[in-house]
Amino acid sequence: MDFAKLDLESIAKEHKTPLYVYDMDAAIAQARALRASLPSCIDLLYCAKANANKVVLSAFKPEVAGLDISSAGELDLAIAVGWSPSVMSFAGPGKSEDELERAISKDLHVLSVESLTELRRASAIAIRLGKTQSITLRVNPASAPKEFPMKMGGLPSQFGIPEEQAEEAMAEAVKTPGIKVIGVHVFSGTNCLEPSAIVENARGTLAIAERLVEKFALTPEIVNLGGGFGVPYFPGQQPMDVAALGKAVGETVLAFQESHPRFAKTRFLLELGRFMIAEFGVYVTRVLDVKETRGKRFAILDGGMHHCFPATGNFGQVIKKNFPVVNASRTGGGEPHEVVGPLCTPIDSMARAIELSRAEIGDLVVFDRCGAYSYAASPLLFLSHDTPPELVLHEGKIALVRPRRPASYFQ
Ligand SMILES: *Cc1c(COP(=O)(O)O)cnc(C)c1O
Repeated sequence: MDFAKLDLESIAKEHKTPLYVYDMDAAIAQARALRASLPSCIDLLYCAKANANKVVLSAFKPEVAGLDISSAGELDLAIAVGWSPSVMSFAGPGKSEDELERAISKDLHVLSVESLTELRRASAIAIRLGKTQSITLRVNPASAPKEFPMKMGGLPSQFGIPEEQAEEAMAEAVKTPGIKVIGVHVFSGTNCLEPSAIVENARGTLAIAERLVEKFALTPEIVNLGGGFGVPYFPGQQPMDVAALGKAVGETVLAFQESHPRFAKTRFLLELGRFMIAEFGVYVTRVLDVKETRGKRFAILDGGMHHCFPATGNFGQVIKKNFPVVNASRTGGGEPHEVVGPLCTPIDSMARAIELSRAEIGDLVVFDRCGAYSYAASPLLFLSHDTPPELVLHEGKIALVRPRRPASYFQ
């Protein structure tokens, strides 16, 4: 993110390091640009699991049509900041009885059903509560484009119902009491930076939806296209052109809709997490110590994998690549550093052989693209350090949203 506009040094002095800063103003600007490029039959959903910080969740509310949740915890967090369950889609391969009941009793808009067991559980709960629960059937497609580096579909996986069994599952779903089938959901993979593959993936989803809709003579209220829009985390990767991407996906959906009357009133959903927020967060640390050892210069930070796990390469990377990292306290000549966190484990390696301005004790080292799956996907209590505070820039003002907390807070 463009953190030059923030005075990170004074923020770090005031709030102490390590800490996170998110720029919601920039995130909202990007969400608006994407929205503006899409036809009106496409709705944008924010995926809460990428970053469920209170202000992030609430600031996206006026910008998107709905929220994709993955647990009853997210349901509660979102309700607490003003979201209505009537715009939420709930997906996930293992939803407990308790979670289903909490969601159904609160009039969740759509439950994405991922197995026949779940369908039957939801049915029993809906009947007991005297409700009818709208569902999409989540289908795991037989194939997914190879350009999706992280795959949830197109391979044996715990997600959704295999395409080969989808007709059989739909046959049961459409006659299950307490359940109303309103569409189809496919989320086959993510972090794709290739617009043509995103379009191809949307086409694949539309084809699956078409087969099921025709076979069972449905008029679907929604087709959830997933999304999988990627973020350029690594050197050499280019960001996608938001307007061109939105236009390409939009044209594909519009052409499909025009030639398929059963979909004339359908809403097509894109559920995006990382694309919406990853680029708009930084993790800010300070150098605690510098060690020259066996030909390498180690910068030992006051923060590490316990706060920012993906930077270590352990969150879905096959080969460890460095996140964008800078020494924000200095300019000039880079030299190779091993950048490590303070934890007593060799996997607390935040960047390897990375060129940085020569790091000295007290320097600020800043990790970029840490708005998604960073605080949210880190083992915060490992080694019982304090959790990092989260600050958010919103409507031109920066505020502390989630404070630093000692491990004892969670005891
Ligand atoms: C996690 C998830 C998303 C969001 O993925 P991103 O990579 O953050 O865009 C969307 N849909 C479902 C069903 C998910 O589980």
